Amino acid sequence: MRKPIIIANWKMYKTVEEGRKFIAEFPLDKELFSEVEVAICPTFTALQTVGEVFRNTDVKLGAQNLYPVDEGAFTGEISPVMLKELGCSYVILGHSERRHILNETDSFINRKVKCAFKHELLPILCIGETLEERQKGKTEEVCIHQIIEGLEDIDTKDLARMVLAYEPVWAIGSGINASADEAEETIALIRDVIGENLDKEVAEKMRIQYGGSVKPGNIKEFMKKENIDGALVGGASLKADSFYEIIKGARGGKEEE
Ligand code: PEP
Repeated sequence: MRKPIIIANWKMYKTVEEGRKFIAEFPLDKELFSEVEVAICPTFTALQTVGEVFRNTDVKLGAQNLYPVDEGAFTGEISPVMLKELGCSYVILGHSERRHILNETDSFINRKVKCAFKHELLPILCIGETLEERQKGKTEEVCIHQIIEGLEDIDTKDLARMVLAYEPVWAIGSGINASADEAEETIALIRDVIGENLDKEVAEKMRIQYGGSVKPGNIKEFMKKENIDGALVGGASLKADSFYEIIKGARGGKEEE
């Protein structure tokens, strides 16, 4: 039985002060969070403040990126050692905004995945096709490629602990989500690919989220699906009440599954 996981990606939103306001409004619902794992990935500047408040609670802290070197002359980058020091448990890697705006390649993302594990940070590896790739019938090919290259040479015991987020690029921040059936179909295929190419037990154990315009009104539909274990949430995670509603909806959806 895979524990559902809902992760907030604040992207480049929220000052430290706005982060504080979110925390003050976000209910620390112990019972709910024992059933649904919750992680928040704030901006780097808000990591310390958010992390201090959630330390010793059930809310985990995540970063939105790392540079795959412990320290050095890499102006503007952030080291895994620094993220660990602030209490991060997770790190988002391969987000489509980094792949497409900052031209990150699968082999560079693979270096980051390896580096994350070396520092006991669990990667949330994002994969997904663009609209053009979807229209050309390439969804499967793109996802397989991103998984195989992104997860090359990772130990199976590590693979089972990480999180994969299937995020069709056309659904991110657009308000147009994939239907629950479409997401389930692709995520089931991703699980098969992992089973055939990496490891059967990993395919069973690995949590795979859907991401792309998830809101309180559609989370239940996704969570009713057998292969969907949670959501990576951007826009709707910026308000404490809507993020909390999504977490409640995630539990509700799994109960109705
Ligand atoms: C994301 O940033 O990963 C994301 C899914 O964003 P949104 O929920 O706004 O589509």
